[in-house]
Amino acid sequence: MQQTDLVPARFRDGAARMAQALARTDKIIVAGHVAPDGDAVGSLAAAGHVLRAMGKEFFLYARPDVPQYLRFLPFPGVVRTTLEHPPFTPQAALLLDCGEASRLGEELAERLPSLESLNIDHHLGGSGMGSKANWVEPEAAATAQLMAYVTHMAGLPLAGDVATCLALGIITDTGGFCHGNTDSDVLALAAHLAANGCDISLLRHKLENDWSLGRMRLWGELMSRIRLEYGGSVAFCPVFLKDMQVFQALREDLEGFAEQMRRLRGVSVAVFLREDAPGLCKFSLRSYGATDVRAVAALLGGGGHRNAAGGTLHMGMEEAQTTLLAAVSDVLGGLCPPKNSTQKTDNACAEANLQGYSSARRSASTADSLKFSK
Ligand code: 5GP
Ligand code: MN
Repeated sequence: MQQTDLVPARFRDGAARMAQALARTDKIIVAGHVAPDGDAVGSLAAAGHVLRAMGKEFFLYARPDVPQYLRFLPFPGVVRTTLEHPPFTPQAALLLDCGEASRLGEELAERLPSLESLNIDHHLGGSGMGSKANWVEPEAAATAQLMAYVTHMAGLPLAGDVATCLALGIITDTGGFCHGNTDSDVLALAAHLAANGCDISLLRHKLENDWSLGRMRLWGELMSRIRLEYGGSVAFCPVFLKDMQVFQALREDLEGFAEQMRRLRGVSVAVFLREDAPGLCKFSLRSYGATDVRAVAALLGGGGHRNAAGGTLHMGMEEAQTTLLAAVSDVLGGLCPPKNSTQKTDNACAEANLQGYSSARRSASTADSLKFSK
C-alpha cells in the first residue's frame, strides 16, 4: 500500500479501507447504476483493471448495457447485460456510483441479499449498501475520483488503461472540469493522470464529437421547444417517445441536453422531462450554486446531487409536467415567482414574441429534418 499526497487526507482512510477489502475478496460482480453514465462506466471499467491486476475473478455488469458513446473505452473484459451465466459462483458485488439498491436494476437488487457487497459512491444519503465495506463521500466529484484513490492505495499505478477509464468518469461528472464539484483535488488528480500518459483532450474528443445527424436534429427540435416558467427562472422541455422514433435517436442521445437548458440567462433551474413509455417518465433537473435540485428530486422519490438530480414518475407526460413544476415551486419557492407574475424577465418577453414564430416553424421543421436525417 502507498501513501502519498495524491490522496487527500480526507479520503485516505476510506481509500485504504476499500483497497484492503478488495484484496480480501474474490469472485466479484462489478456494477454501476442502471442506464450507466460516464462515471458509472468509467469506474466499472477501472475497477475491472484493478481486480485483474490483483489476480481476482470478476464479472462486469451493466443494465441495460454500456451506452454506445462509451464503448470506445479500454474495458478489461466483456461487459455482461445479464447475471445468468457468470463464469464463477459470485461471492461479492462491488457497487459503484449507485446511491440506492433499487438503482442497480431488479436482477442484481434481488441477488444482493445473498452476496457480500462493497460500495463506493458519492451520492448523498446512500441507503445502507456495502455489507462488507461501505465508502460514500458526497464531497467527491465522481465515483471515479474515489476509485482512483483506491487504485493508488492498492499500490497500483494510475497510468495506462485504468487512468483513461478513471479520467473519463471524472470528465463526465465534472462537465469537463467545469461544474462546482471541480476542486483542487480533482485537478491535482487529473494532472497526475495527464502526466502519466492519459490524453485528456483525445478522450474528450472521442466523448463529445461522435453525434449522429439524428441527434443533432433532435437537439435542434428540442431547443426550439424549451419553455420558460415562473417568470423566466425555470426552463422546461419535454421529449416524447414519438420524437425518439422520428429522429431515430437513442436515449443516450439526450445526455447533456438538460445542461444546455441551464445556459439560458435568468434561468435557475432546468427541468427536462422524457417519456420512456406511456405512463412512465424520467426527469432531469439542473441548477447552479446553492440551488438544491436534489431536494426537488427527493420529494418525488428520486435523488442525485445538489446541482444535478433526477428521478422517475409513473404517470403520463401532462401530469408529470404539472407535478414536476409544482415540486420545483414548492421546494425552491423563493426563485419561482407566481406563474402569472407581471414582472417578466427579458427572456420571458422574448419567448412571448417568439411563440407564434416557433410553433409555425415547428410544424415545418420535423418534416424538413426527416428528409435529411438518413
Ligand atoms: P440524470 O438527470 O443525468 O439522469 O441524473 C442526474 C443525477 O441524478 C445523477 O447523479 C443520477 O445518479 C441521479 N439520478 C437520476 N435519476 C435518479 C433516480 O431515479 N433516483 C436517484 N436516486 N437518483 C437519480
Ligand atoms: Mn457519479
